[in-house]
Amino acid sequence: LEAQLAHAQKMEAVGTLAGGIAHDFNNLLQTIQGYAELLANRADSHDIDRQRLDKIFDAVQRGRELTRNLLTFSRKMEPHLRRLNLNRELAEMQDILSHTLPKMITVRLETAPELPAVHADPSQVAQVIMNLAVNAKDAMPDGGTLTLKTQCLTLPQGHASGLKPGDYVCLSVEDTGTGMPETVRQRIFEPFFTTKPSGSGTGLGLSMVYGIMASHQGTVLCHSVPGQGTRFDCLFPALPEAASEVDSPPRQQAPTAP
Ligand code: ADP
Repeated sequence: LEAQLAHAQKMEAVGTLAGGIAHDFNNLLQTIQGYAELLANRADSHDIDRQRLDKIFDAVQRGRELTRNLLTFSRKMEPHLRRLNLNRELAEMQDILSHTLPKMITVRLETAPELPAVHADPSQVAQVIMNLAVNAKDAMPDGGTLTLKTQCLTLPQGHASGLKPGDYVCLSVEDTGTGMPETVRQRIFEPFFTTKPSGSGTGLGLSMVYGIMASHQGTVLCHSVPGQGTRFDCLFPALPEAASEVDSPPRQQAPTAP
């Protein structure tokens, strides 16, 4: 538990720091962009200066994307919680992913029937699945299978995840890719940790997943076997069974007879 607390505090500190830097940096980039635009208005379109200015615009654009990612990560991620059926979210994501991932990656869906609902922010759930799926794609350069899975779990007291005992819905994203050695696996949730060549990875995807899961009173766990593949398990506390699966207001309690 101590290690988890230390990790959470470290994430919080780095988040605050990154947020501050990103904010100031974004302002600088805006200034650069503004002056470059002033110059661009003067340069004629066949000018060599014009091409150089376009390079400045491209770099500024990339910088602003990076700072936007940083700001998302560092923002206190207050989720807009709704009663959700993760099977439905997953089916939607399968549809999107099977159209956008390379053809040599098969996207499978394995959903548990009668899944309890969870309290979750649909756009953050989509972000979690997307970040995990993009990593899975990167880990399968020669193709493979991406499996999106749900199941119900009951965690006992003192589970290694540090979560309270009780019922959870586990959303898994599994790949048949390269896997990772233990030394890498231990560091993957650290902000800015990446093994990807500079320019292609920011090292923020999994920190974001970690932050989102923590703000949902859940967590994310990683199992990986080098040469075989990786599975990320996202645990959401299950909601008690309701009268209906749809987003209906809670039923009024029937008055009890005296
Ligand atoms: P990035 O993808 O920008 O590197 P992430 O935080 O998303 O940042 O991931 C951090 C690192 O974790 C990756 O660089 C990679 O080494 C490792 N990783 C994440 N997902 C997987 C996966 N599915 N298979 C193998 N390695 C992975």
